[in-house]
Amino acid sequence: MEEVVIIGTGPAGLTAAIYMARANCNPVVIAGQLPGGLLTQTTDIENFPGFPEAINGFELMMRCQQQAEKFGAKILYEVVDKVELKEGGPHKLTFTSGEIMECKALIIATGSSPRWLGLESEDRLKNHGVSACATCDGAFFRDVPVAVIGGGDSAMEEALFLTKFASSVTLIHRREEFRASKIMLDRARSNEKIKFIVNSVIKEVVGGQEVDALRLENVKTGEVSDFPCKGVFLALGHDPNTTLFKGQLETDQKGFIKTTGRTTYTSVEGVFVAGDCADNVYRQAVTAAGTGCGAAIDAERWLASKE
Ligand code: NAP
Repeated sequence: MEEVVIIGTGPAGLTAAIYMARANCNPVVIAGQLPGGLLTQTTDIENFPGFPEAINGFELMMRCQQQAEKFGAKILYEVVDKVELKEGGPHKLTFTSGEIMECKALIIATGSSPRWLGLESEDRLKNHGVSACATCDGAFFRDVPVAVIGGGDSAMEEALFLTKFASSVTLIHRREEFRASKIMLDRARSNEKIKFIVNSVIKEVVGGQEVDALRLENVKTGEVSDFPCKGVFLALGHDPNTTLFKGQLETDQKGFIKTTGRTTYTSVEGVFVAGDCADNVYRQAVTAAGTGCGAAIDAERWLASKE
């Protein structure tokens, strides 16, 4: 029986691992389908404190992993297929390899996945002009036109953020009504750098090595046209990676795991949560790392209280 298992190796999971290892709790960390998490898929990270020259996302996560391993965390390259959570533990994990593991405390740090349009051209041009994170990649698009896709608060926020860099920002939405809050929509509307195209869907991201344009179809008239731009920022929302825990942990309507007050406690005793799978608001590497620290402290204290 393991003392503590952490599912996920993004900033939340690895920070939890560093803290648990330094507390002599011998954490086992399950790497999952995308070892290092979503950050490994971005380029330079300029807003993680301590790296004024920026740091490559993959390198940041490798450094976090080394730090966790240095203190004794064990990284297991397995993917969790099934969990059986029990009030107060032990919790049972079954991996896709068929192996089974039990633990007293469990920290869930499975992250979330951005929604994509699902176009072949979008996939091909990811990191070459197509991004799902303006905070991460916006600064690479100085003095060029960019487009933001979506009609929620994230789309407004990303569009406003991008006005700092881009020559113009065009927000493209599939209908006329916006899901965004009035205050965010008004703020975007009153920014003269932001233009709106509504009732339009993306048929294709046009470009060879980099983005040149978006092929749009007006859903009312059927008219197809190319909109020239160099950057495309998808703000279609995120889905938390919490399907594994469905029916066993309390979540909100969108599947984000609920915590008790300001703690990282979930609805099952001995199960803690950190990072984007419980956060539909901030979704930053540094906030994920912060809750990873919180989850480790909560789990360590909880384990100590059971001794
Ligand atoms: P969201 O509210 O779910 O909005 C997603 C947007 O993407 C919607 O406008 C949706 O269009 C569009 N969309 C989804 N799939 C699409 C597709 N396949 N093709 C075209 N458009 C598509 O997600 P979010 O904006 O990330 O916000 C998530 C939560 O975080 C919200 O509760 C929001 O209030 C909160 N948030 C708050 C702030 C803030 O207050 N500063 C900032 C960011 C986020 P439809 O509307 O047509 O469905």
